[in-house]
Amino acid sequence: MHINDIFKAYPTTFSFEFFPPKNEEAAVELFANIARLQVLHPSFVSVTYGAGGGTRERTHDLIVRIQRETNLTAVSHLTCVCHSRDEINAILDRYAASGVENILALRGDPPRNAVNYDRARDAFQYAEQLVRFVVEWSRNSAKPPFGIGVAGFPEGHPDTPNRLVEMDNLKRKVDAGADYICTQLFFNNHDFYDFRDRCELAGIRVPILAGIMPISSKAGMIRMADLAAGARIPADLLRAVNRCKDDAAVANVGIQWATEQCRKLLDHSVRGIHFYTLNRSDATRRIYENLGVQDSLALQPQ
Ligand code: FAD
Repeated sequence: MHINDIFKAYPTTFSFEFFPPKNEEAAVELFANIARLQVLHPSFVSVTYGAGGGTRERTHDLIVRIQRETNLTAVSHLTCVCHSRDEINAILDRYAASGVENILALRGDPPRNAVNYDRARDAFQYAEQLVRFVVEWSRNSAKPPFGIGVAGFPEGHPDTPNRLVEMDNLKRKVDAGADYICTQLFFNNHDFYDFRDRCELAGIRVPILAGIMPISSKAGMIRMADLAAGARIPADLLRAVNRCKDDAAVANVGIQWATEQCRKLLDHSVRGIHFYTLNRSDATRRIYENLGVQDSLALQPQ
């Protein structure tokens, strides 16, 4: 289903993000978790895209498999880094042939081991150019046009310290043809509300989906702080985590915090919530339980 049809059908969307499994055993576990999450009726699920060769193939395979074996709408993340035009073209051809209708268009970050990575060698330096390319591909294709999402950063993206310039860059990316914005994870809803207001002031009118990730362990929190550009952990969350005697307690704190974030976002008419699941199902299912509902349909505004 095209993302715009999903937005038409549901006033609030609920989506789950996965990453490609490393091996067959992890793939079996992921599909078991996808089955557990499917009963929550997500509006769509998305699959991240790595910086290197092998993991990229696994993204393509996972997307096509979700599309073929489940009744879920699959959104594939796609990045500019380490790609030529021909490669992106081939990926879009393959997705279109497999019935994949939606892309999350990202710049991506250079591979971790690539010192002095030269972006000039990529066909596209910014996500905006990738959005334009996907729009152009759709225009020249007999297949239905791809739905396109882009990333947004409530607390700012580190590459652009000037937040006014950053909003101009975001607006250009949306004007290039993006249908919606999905945000980086955040722990303080006020950052999201302010970002949404600043988008409104900049004339950005597309749906903005809030990225939520429950903290599941102390080590996970440290990893997340490293990976999620811009995201800040508030002092009261940090204090609550520091009080925990073990990771089971940390997971409880994380689920409780994320539940409160979701409850308040729903009260503030959020257009969508995007859960970073880390390929697990427990935390997301418990958040739904805490919200007192069985599935996403029950979370639609009354
Ligand atoms: P861009 O929109 O290109 O912006 C990157 C930076 O460049 C920003 O600071 C922006 O202000 C600036 N900029 C934009 N245009 C210009 C211009 N014309 N001139 C100067 N500066 C400009 N990464 C992955 O590798 N794989 C994934 O699957 C993945 N999924 C993600 C999903 C979400 C929801 C989010 C929020 C992030 C994801 N990322 C992923 C991380 C993302 O790729 C990085 O954060 C990356 O650094 C920024 O990507 P972007 O698409 O926002 O880039």
